[in-house]
Amino acid sequence: MFYVDAHCHIEDKNFNKNRDEVIERAKKENVKIVTSGASLGGCLRALKFKKKYNIYLTLGYHPSRVKADNKIINKVYNLIRNNENEILAVGEIGMDIKDENYERQEEIFKKFLSLAEELDKPIVVHARGFERKIFDIAKDKVDIMFHCYSGDLETAKNICREGNLISISTLLCFSEHHKKLVENLDIDYLITETDSPYLSPIKGAKNEPKNVKLVVEEIGKIKEMDVDEVKKVIYKNACKFFKRRL
Ligand SMILES: [Zn+2]
Repeated sequence: MFYVDAHCHIEDKNFNKNRDEVIERAKKENVKIVTSGASLGGCLRALKFKKKYNIYLTLGYHPSRVKADNKIINKVYNLIRNNENEILAVGEIGMDIKDENYERQEEIFKKFLSLAEELDKPIVVHARGFERKIFDIAKDKVDIMFHCYSGDLETAKNICREGNLISISTLLCFSEHHKKLVENLDIDYLITETDSPYLSPIKGAKNEPKNVKLVVEEIGKIKEMDVDEVKKVIYKNACKFFKRRL
């Protein structure tokens, strides 16, 4: 039985010193890793590590990189198109209320969304502060996984009702808001992630994929289910969403 870390950044330079050990620790715990390229350099490295470590991959372009010119964005676009067989989904893509120029963010998001439609892939979105907007734009086009969802419960329920996934990150370990989301959402529409090396549940330590265990344990506590049961449902949700066995 497997854990699923449906969104992390193995290609992040923060892992340059210990990437081999991080992967090994995750594999020892039977964690299925999906790494997510989020910049041109990040996508190129993620592709390389996908092959090296035999992990899973999504490729996209992070909304915080809104200042980039079209030349860079087109390079990422073509990279995704040329590697369609290597990826499970397009992402992470999206919009972030803490970044500038919402119009340009939306334009870039829509460009990658139409690529996902063309390739018949689901999308993994970063939608901080724009959960409802992203959902409205994409819901009739592709399946959506809301990475590290932090929006309100009502929107989350709508997202689930249409068969999309809410991804619960390691923030669950210390956030009352996220605990409340888990409590009130159907587990059939949840998936788990670490977003490592970010969002560490352990003070002073870098996050890593094996910590997805802590998310699963916390979901088990909240839902009064045992860990194996939670693992089984999350794995099933992941395979259904990515349209393949991981
Ligand atoms: Zn991320």
